Amino acid sequence: MSEQLVIDSLEFARHGQHLVGEIAVADLPRLRDLLLSDNGLLRYRLSGEISVLDRPRLALNVSGELALECQRCLDELVFPVDVSVRLELVKDGESFIPVEEEDDSVDLISADSAMDVMALVEDEVLLCLPIAPMHPPEVCREKDCRVAPELDEVNPFKVLASLKKNV
Ligand SMILES: [Zn+2]
Repeated sequence: MSEQLVIDSLEFARHGQHLVGEIAVADLPRLRDLLLSDNGLLRYRLSGEISVLDRPRLALNVSGELALECQRCLDELVFPVDVSVRLELVKDGESFIPVEEEDDSVDLISADSAMDVMALVEDEVLLCLPIAPMHPPEVCREKDCRVAPELDEVNPFKVLASLKKNV
């Protein structure tokens, strides 16, 4: 559905280029495997820039909603995606420590003359997903199973106590 998008990452950063678009969730195979439904779109904005330390980097924002599966009730959980990250481009053989900024996290990424933008967006979204997504207790469908009186009825110690009485 979406066409493949490839950029020369260093050129993109040096020239301060921008790319804005939408990606169908169904076109991201690694992400799709983790979802209850692959309907929907992720919107992204990628900008090239040069940091205050004269480093080429990419600023990426991704937003949208994903349908995850609640690990408690197995129902759909709508997870809002709001990724905002800066990616410092590192050439082969180069190494340095990125400088953290107040607003966004800064990560390192290999500079690539044929960087796949969809894969980059997918990587960053995968990193932001919760390991075990769950509804808050007040909205989860499973909450009725966890109220005290019902648990009390099947308390094995109470069962044992009543057996002892009958001996
Ligand atoms: Zn739930």
